[in-house]
Amino acid sequence: MTKFFALPVRLGLPLILAGFPSLLIAADKTVDDFKAAADKAHSTLTIPHWEQTPAEVEAMMKDAIDQANKALDQIGALKPNQVNFKNTVVALDDLGNAALVAANKATIVKEASPNEAMRTAGENAVKAYQDWAVGIDYREDVYKAIKAFADTKPKLAGEDAKLLKETLRDYRRAGLELPTDKRKEVEQLRKDLTKLGTDFDTNIVNAKAPVVFTRAELEGVPDSFFASPGVKTGDDAFTVAAHVTWQFVAVEENARKEETRKKLYVIHDSLAKDTNATVLNQMLALRNKIALRLGYKSWDDFQTEIKLAKSGAGAKQYINNLITGIEPKFAAEVSELQKMKAADTNDPNAKVMVWDWRYYSNQLNKQKYAVDKEALRNFFPYQKVLDGMFNIYQSIFGLKFEKISAPYKWVDDLQLYMVTDAASGEPLGMFYLDMFPREGKFNHFAQFDIICGKLQPDGKYQRPTVALLCNFPPPAADKPSLMTHSDVETLFHEFGHALHSITTRAKYVRFSGAHVPGDFVEAPSQMLQNWVWDKSVLDTFAADYRDPSRKIPAEIIQKMNDARLANAGVIYRRQFAFASLDLALHDQHAEDAPYDCVAISNPILEKVFLPIDPSTTFVTYFGHLNGYDAGYYGYAWADAIAADMATVFDHAKNKYLDKTAGMRLRNEIYSQGDSRDVNVSIEKFLGRKQSIDAFLKHIGIQKGPANKKPPAAPPTTPAR
Ligand SMILES: [Zn+2]
Repeated sequence: MTKFFALPVRLGLPLILAGFPSLLIAADKTVDDFKAAADKAHSTLTIPHWEQTPAEVEAMMKDAIDQANKALDQIGALKPNQVNFKNTVVALDDLGNAALVAANKATIVKEASPNEAMRTAGENAVKAYQDWAVGIDYREDVYKAIKAFADTKPKLAGEDAKLLKETLRDYRRAGLELPTDKRKEVEQLRKDLTKLGTDFDTNIVNAKAPVVFTRAELEGVPDSFFASPGVKTGDDAFTVAAHVTWQFVAVEENARKEETRKKLYVIHDSLAKDTNATVLNQMLALRNKIALRLGYKSWDDFQTEIKLAKSGAGAKQYINNLITGIEPKFAAEVSELQKMKAADTNDPNAKVMVWDWRYYSNQLNKQKYAVDKEALRNFFPYQKVLDGMFNIYQSIFGLKFEKISAPYKWVDDLQLYMVTDAASGEPLGMFYLDMFPREGKFNHFAQFDIICGKLQPDGKYQRPTVALLCNFPPPAADKPSLMTHSDVETLFHEFGHALHSITTRAKYVRFSGAHVPGDFVEAPSQMLQNWVWDKSVLDTFAADYRDPSRKIPAEIIQKMNDARLANAGVIYRRQFAFASLDLALHDQHAEDAPYDCVAISNPILEKVFLPIDPSTTFVTYFGHLNGYDAGYYGYAWADAIAADMATVFDHAKNKYLDKTAGMRLRNEIYSQGDSRDVNVSIEKFLGRKQSIDAFLKHIGIQKGPANKKPPAAPPTTPAR
């Protein structure tokens, strides 16, 4: 295991130069410069060792798995009179952590290496890890040792007690508490479910629906669309790929003719109808069976047990409250769209259908809230934005970021930073920035864990190292990298995850950093998105790169906020409809009764959102139903918590630049991770009970005195 905690390769300046500080002025610090401070804080700082060849990557993973298996064998071999907290539950966390570091490194190689063979090796290593990790749950010898320790009724408190409780919970959820034959059945059901899930995903990928239109049928669609490769397929024939999201959305948003919008929507919402309706029905039946075998009433109870929602009923209640709460705003927006459609069609009774909302919302945006997004980019040169964000986060969270030299870089412009506590100088961890696109690289924006925070067996605390892999616009010959406003928002969001990881104080990797329940993990970062919609924040760094005295005009920021608010009712109700139908599909269901996924979901779409065409089967193409099953509600949940948490800053003296509120976030949310119940952490941060009122207020629902608060984070969530 020591391999994974090996000291970093030291390529810093020779120590002999230390006596000549003037020579060092231009050089970055190295990790060694922080060693004394780390020792003082009883912590370890580790720059990961990066394997250089595909064979090394695969061997690294194999070694890690071998070591972890040995450690599992050791736990499994314990006699009941030998068990204690350290050699069972903690040992499990230790060995899991070592394997995780290897898997995390393999993930970075897979997603970021400029070398294709390395990426493939990384991918193989990640696969090997995943296959191995599935089997850990079924190590009966290990379970017996842990159970033997639990049976001693140990007196544990706080994070230790939580670790034992949740470790046992994992085994129960895997079926280890069941008699052998029943457990074997659950194992088999799970394997069948995994296979069906793969089929479901494959059917979605394979569902293709090119639809040919005439130019007249596509009236209103912008010229740029017709110029896109593959669209013009005949003299007056234009092929729209219903399965390609941007093409579908471009036509739905712009096509003036209702028949066109409807035709494309019906085809889109019937994708994978012939293949996936059956598969999904089988998946629902299997999930239900697994839940029942494990002693749950339903799959949504099983899935939500480990989330903030705690039960299917809890999740449903929350979503229903949001559906009701947002009703006035939703109704008002639909009524405005209805007026537009009535005028457009000369039919006063025209109804807004599901194929209409994108078109009329887009018209409304163009008429009332048009902001030139391209011109706005001049205010967001990458380096200024990065520095600006650093200044804000350093200030409010009491941190200091310093560039340090990276002994190994997988790409030239990679940067490595050290984060220290500003008050004490304690080093807290490191982050890599790999910010621009290139061939073969991960193509979204995300924070990746590499080394997670954890109290090590030697009693020192391993500080984390993470990486941000992003794809911001690269600089051009004649101008710097200019970000869109949405890029800036993504940066503030993703960097929030990095801070969550780095400032952790949790003892166990299971709870450290952003290892929190899935319906909470996005909330702090979604809250930070608010920062970039606020003039006082933007004015600290956003300035026209050609004339830095020019700030973004207040009326533009207002317009952007108004635009975001304008469709919030419709956009959120659509999200809530998805959340609602997902929970309904996974609700209590008699074991032998067949499933009809479309009959369950279509009426909910209509009831919560807008009238649909009855022949469509939205759920057969809804990929979230494999992976986010009984979990889609989490997006809305996290949005609502994010809005609630933002009130702490809204009410603080310096608003989004307030240090007291920032430190409270760091201490009550970030550093805690999941080491205590996250609901407790949220309420300690809020200083009160949670409420959805802030969320409703932020999206423009007036309750009591009129509010002038900025609206909530937008419903679209950047990746991770
Ligand atoms: Zn995220």
